[in-house]
This record gives sequence, C-alpha cells and structure tokens, in this order.
Amino acid sequence: MAKIIMKTPLVEMDGDEMTRILWQWIKDILLVPYVELNTEYYDLGLKHREETKDQVTLDSAEATKKYGVAVKCATITPNAARMPEYNLTQMWKSPNGTIRAALDGTVFRTPIIVKGIEPYIPTWTKPITIARHAYGDVYKNAEIRVEKGCKAELVVTDAQGNETRELIHDFAKSDGIIQGLHNLDNSIAGFARACLNYGLDLKQDVWFATKDTISKKYDHRFKDIFQEIYDNEYKEKYEAAGIEYFYTLIDDAVARVIRSEGGYIWACKNYDGDVMSDMVSTAYGSLAMMTSVLVSPDGIYEYEAAHGTVQRHYYKYLKGEETSTNSVATIFAWSGALRKRGELDGTPELCEFADKLEKATIQTIENGVMTGDLYLISKLENKKKVDSKTFLEEIKVNLDKMM
Ligand code: NAP
Ligand code: MG
Repeated sequence: MAKIIMKTPLVEMDGDEMTRILWQWIKDILLVPYVELNTEYYDLGLKHREETKDQVTLDSAEATKKYGVAVKCATITPNAARMPEYNLTQMWKSPNGTIRAALDGTVFRTPIIVKGIEPYIPTWTKPITIARHAYGDVYKNAEIRVEKGCKAELVVTDAQGNETRELIHDFAKSDGIIQGLHNLDNSIAGFARACLNYGLDLKQDVWFATKDTISKKYDHRFKDIFQEIYDNEYKEKYEAAGIEYFYTLIDDAVARVIRSEGGYIWACKNYDGDVMSDMVSTAYGSLAMMTSVLVSPDGIYEYEAAHGTVQRHYYKYLKGEETSTNSVATIFAWSGALRKRGELDGTPELCEFADKLEKATIQTIENGVMTGDLYLISKLENKKKVDSKTFLEEIKVNLDKMM
C-alpha cells in the first residue's frame, strides 16, 4: 500500500518523560507505516530547552505561525526539584504559556467518549468542549488590604492628566480588602473570534455566559463584544451551518450544562474556565482522555493532550518495570493535527486516515483492551489491562482492518 503524502509540513514539538516515550512509539507503530510524515521537528524536551536557553520554544511557535498546524507532546514545566535533575541554569517558563502568548491563542479542551467509561452525569452522551479566556481578570489583578478608617476609590487618569473617580468603599467601620481587575477589548475580541471560528469548525453551538446583571460595565462589555462580533461577522455563517451562538447568565449556563446532553462549545471567562474545566474533565472520567487544542484568532492550530508528562510512570519505565500509560489523548493530538493539515492542504486521504486512527483507538477500548487507568473505571465486563506498547499494537491491528 502506498503511503499517504503530506503536501505541507506540520510542526512537531517533542516533549518529556513518559509522553516522550509514547510519542516515538505512536509514530513508529501508528503513523509512519501509513503516512509519509512530513514534519518540522522541534525538540522541546527540557534538556534541549536548557541547551538552547529556551530559544527552541520560541522557534517552534514561529514555525507554527508559518505552517498553521502543530502537534505538541507534554513537556515539563520546571519547578525547584527539576533544577538539579536537569542541571538547569534557569527555571524555564512553561512552553505552553510561551506558545499561547506567541499565538494569542485560546485553549479548547474536549473529552474523548468511549463505551464503558460513563460520565458522572449520565445525560452527557456528547462531549462538552470548554474554552477558557486566558487573559486578565483575577489572574492579573492588583490587591490591597485596607485599614479601618480608609476610603478606597478607583481612579483612571487620561493622557491629559484628568481623573475619573469612583468610590469602591468607605472602610469607616472595619478593616477590609480590595481588588482591581482589568481586561482588554482586543483580548476579548480575539477570544470571541477563536470561539466562534471553532464553533464553525466543529459545526457546534457556542455558549457564552457572564454575570452581566450584576457587573453592568465589566461583564456587560464581554457580552457586548461577543454579540457585536457574532452579529457582524458570524451570524450568516452560523445560520447557514445550522448552528447557534447562545448567550445566558452564568448561573443559568451552569444549570443548563448539567441538564444538557453535551455537544457544544462552552466559552468561559478566565476564572469560570479554570474552575469549570476541572469539573467537566473530572465528570467525564479521566484526564488521560482529554484532548486540547490551542486556536489563534487568525486560525492557527496547535494540538496536544491535556495531561502532563506522567512522571511516575516514567520512573517505573526507567527501572525497566512495566507501565500501562494511556496514549489516547496524544494519539488524538496527532489525528487532530493530521486532519487539520489535510483540510488546509486539500488532501482528503489524510483526513480519512485521521478518522480511521481515532475509530481504531476507540474500538480497541470498546473491545475491552485498555490501559490501567481506564481498566479501573470501565464498566465493560470482558476487559483486559495491557501495557503501554501492547495497547498501541492492539490499535494497529484494528487500524489495519480499516486500511
Ligand atoms: P500528569 O503528568 O498529568 O500526571 C498526573 C497523574 O495522572 C499521573 O501520575 C497518573 O496517575 C495520571 N495520568 C495522567 N495522564 C495519564 C495517562 N496518559 N495515562 C495514565 N495515567 C495518567 O501531571 P503531573 O504529575 O502533575 O505533572 C507531571 C509533569 O507534567 C510536570 O512536570 C508538569 O509540569 C507537566 N505538565 C505538562 C503539561 C503540558 O505540557 N501540557 C500539562 C500538565 C503538566 P497515577 O500516577 O496514579 O497512575
Ligand atoms: Mg484549574
């Protein structure tokens, strides 16, 4: 069988620890036999980030802008313990943070649903994708503890030195606390476009919610920007695609999400997304089954797994012990990137391969063959726990039947 050709390269960002081991196996077992892999390779493993003084991370982000599609392996974000372990000269920043900043991107997280792993909310038969606005609000705040007897005001000074003041509180009777938040119209607009584009991409409704009834200027601005951009740039495309943009109050959104069957994108303000993404991913069963894609407002895509480098399994692997690490989210990162490459290049055979790879992966688990994390929670009766590599080989058996 002739291998599938990739017209344009995609950016490949290698990573660390157990996921780096899985990365190579996924390529060897599930990709290279079928696809003439055309990637521009960047090694974001911590050792090479140290060797290049993190230049490699910046280079990989630039390459992503050039080619439009990237796939990333999980990477270590160094902490104090990593300094001696990797002989680091600096505690290098999180590569994900660096890449997100370079692309001005929004992260979308989607669970992969399989029979036997049931969400805690039984009506959630379709995935809920959460998008988190990753700028501002409480994550870039200013805070002051205020003593009794003080008065706190918001002050805005314009370029000519004129001040606008608004009383926050007169602390006449008690000590207290204050907090200053901000956001930027540009950042909110970029977030809105990324979400509305991704909705068109997936042909799914987009939900957005804030507390605009209480926060009549701050949250209301989010609501207005989303609505303006939707009306001016997306309304017709959404109507043609048969999908909708839906705004409601955050309390109402939470209640509707619980009652829903899934199958939509939930755009969240920064704090809501932080909290709700952890709740939703836990409710779907396993972090190892959660994919993640970073989308820029101008349509650049970087695919990855939501989980980390699975350090504990890596140390077992180094000792020669058997591991049973789940590679599903990393496989879906590859399939997502290959499908997007195929769409952009007009090579449907690449998209078909991505579909088959995902189907074969899901089928393997639904046939009862799975890694230890899923084995613990699967409700299937005839289930079998396999090691990391056997799992990939079992997927290949199913994939070969489809090719
Ligand atoms: P983690 O790698 O996600 O692992 C936490 C635990 O979750 C594991 O010990 C394992 O539980 C379970 N788990 C996660 N993924 C799994 C998989 N694919 N298969 C089976 N079990 C899985 O998070 P962490 O231990 O907090 O972080 C480790 C390193 O990853 C850190 O250096 C962190 O900076 C980095 N990290 C990177 C990214 C990224 O690049 N996007 C994201 C998060 C963390 P058991 O041990 O109980 O089996
Ligand atoms: Mg969180």
